[in-house]
Amino acid sequence: MCGIVAYSGYNEAYPILINGLRRLEYRGYDSAGVALMQDGKITLYKKRGKVSDLDEFCADKNTESHVGIAHTRWATHGEPSEENAHPHLSEDGSIALIHNGIVENYVSLKQELQRIGYTFKSETDTEVLVHLIKDVQAKENLPLADAVMLALTRVEGTYALAILSTDNPDQLIVAKKGSPLLIGVGKNEYFIGSDGAPIVEYTKKVVYLEDGDVAVVTPKKPLVIRNINDEEHLRKRPYFQKLEMSLDQLEKGGFETYMLKEIFEQPKAITDSMRGRINLKKDVVSLGGIIEYESKMMNAKRFIIAACGTSWHAGLVAEYLFESLIRVPVEVEYASEFRYRNPIIHEDDVLIAISQSGETADTLAAVELAKRHGATVIGICNVVGSTLARETMAGSYTHAGPEIGVASTKAFTAQVTVLALMALSLAHKTGTISRSQYHQLVNDLESIPDKIEMVLKQEQFIQKIAQFVATRPNAIFLGRGVNYPVALEGALKLKEISYIHAEGYPAAEMKHGPIALIDEHMPVIVVATEQQTYDKVVSNIQEVIARKGTVISVVTEGDTTVKNMSKFCIEIPHTEELLTPLVATVPLQILAYHVALIRGCNVDRPRNLAKSVSVE
Ligand code: GLU
Repeated sequence: MCGIVAYSGYNEAYPILINGLRRLEYRGYDSAGVALMQDGKITLYKKRGKVSDLDEFCADKNTESHVGIAHTRWATHGEPSEENAHPHLSEDGSIALIHNGIVENYVSLKQELQRIGYTFKSETDTEVLVHLIKDVQAKENLPLADAVMLALTRVEGTYALAILSTDNPDQLIVAKKGSPLLIGVGKNEYFIGSDGAPIVEYTKKVVYLEDGDVAVVTPKKPLVIRNINDEEHLRKRPYFQKLEMSLDQLEKGGFETYMLKEIFEQPKAITDSMRGRINLKKDVVSLGGIIEYESKMMNAKRFIIAACGTSWHAGLVAEYLFESLIRVPVEVEYASEFRYRNPIIHEDDVLIAISQSGETADTLAAVELAKRHGATVIGICNVVGSTLARETMAGSYTHAGPEIGVASTKAFTAQVTVLALMALSLAHKTGTISRSQYHQLVNDLESIPDKIEMVLKQEQFIQKIAQFVATRPNAIFLGRGVNYPVALEGALKLKEISYIHAEGYPAAEMKHGPIALIDEHMPVIVVATEQQTYDKVVSNIQEVIARKGTVISVVTEGDTTVKNMSKFCIEIPHTEELLTPLVATVPLQILAYHVALIRGCNVDRPRNLAKSVSVE
């Protein structure tokens, strides 16, 4: 969840580290720290708060160094504070360590280390690792890398680690299990990152570590990578890959915030998701990444979609798409619940795992579970080379480009696009939809970017609605059918970034409980576009009005019925019902964005959240 960056080479390390932390700050941002090797000794600077606070703190300090590690934390164990911030030091100051993940057996390890005299300065699980490594090194009299390997065999949980030691001042030791870590290879210098963002500006040649890998990284020397699961600890041949990322994708490009940039990037992100996947005559939709498993998917008895957060909402949209186009049952599961439920999984099930980062711990666990039961496992993710991409049998990238804003926007619409392509390709091949229905949907899908452009033009009007919503402590979002996940996503966006309490409900379900909340102070945002259940939604709106709720609606252009019942009405272009979420979600993203801005919230880095949830 947090960010790791490390450097060893001939350049000044501090600017590379601090710049890297800035690029990683979207991943975790409650505190930050840096450890630098200076004349064979480790210097440590840590600060609660943002990376800029750390940089300010370091402004009058000596930061001259060519080797260092740096971290931006998303607290799991112990509050955000200077003591709990990483790096953590060994008692003798010879080892500094940064960690991303959770040491699950930290309590027993900590007690054991305390019994033999180690004292702890922080409340983190991470500090256990420093003392454990030091203890193993001292007892077994091993070179540090071997001590790290041995120590890690005792660690349960997940980690990406970078270690600096006075034993070998030029050297970095890095390790990975369950949390991503990559090594960027420069000329006589190495860069370490928990993703490509801090590396891409220096090199595109990278090695992604695999679970259990421990690497010794020394400038001017080749990488030494071994795996703790290999009993003989033999050296592995590094597998060099090209980092699929560009620097301008990581910049704000003239926008005030990443989130706004990403909302406005949606037409392009969706075009990119479709690129090369629909042929010129539009008679074939195909996703290259799943071709090999297409027959398994066509013969599936059931689809299980496992995901978390916004990706779970994309899964809910897919439930409508798949069931109505392919006529195969779909179950959409919170990955975190699915993995512990002892679910029934058959060999002819297809599990589709969705995650923007491809590192979501719970989703990866669902993948493992489905694989163990012999199901076909397909991944959908945005980050090329992520763990999900590697752990699934096949899959499709969303190609939305890096998403930095913590609240997902373009990744969601790109996920829905890929899921729609998947459903269309399978439906076309299995013959579960007519040619004309197929062509109508493909044509409509291709026109979605233009339709979103039209919605984006309404930003100023939506800003006015935001003025109203921003004064309210609560909001209810309603939708039916395929618009129900849109309501959920609208509510999630609003609560994530503006901290207004919001609930998403199927419109008809409102009368079974939430209707009790409705009075003249409650804004009710209803997605009421042209759809099979339009008339029913109109009745639901009447029920809201009868209780003096304020209706804000999203309707299909030209609608007068709902418009006349609404205080504010956002019109979106006519869209095929099944594809409506791609367009109808956008005004709700803009609404949440402006409400948050009006309330003075940090939209890119909302409190308590992290971008890539790589812990359970
Ligand atoms: N579990 C560690 C801590 O709480 C690391 C958290 C993170 O990944 O930032 O300090």
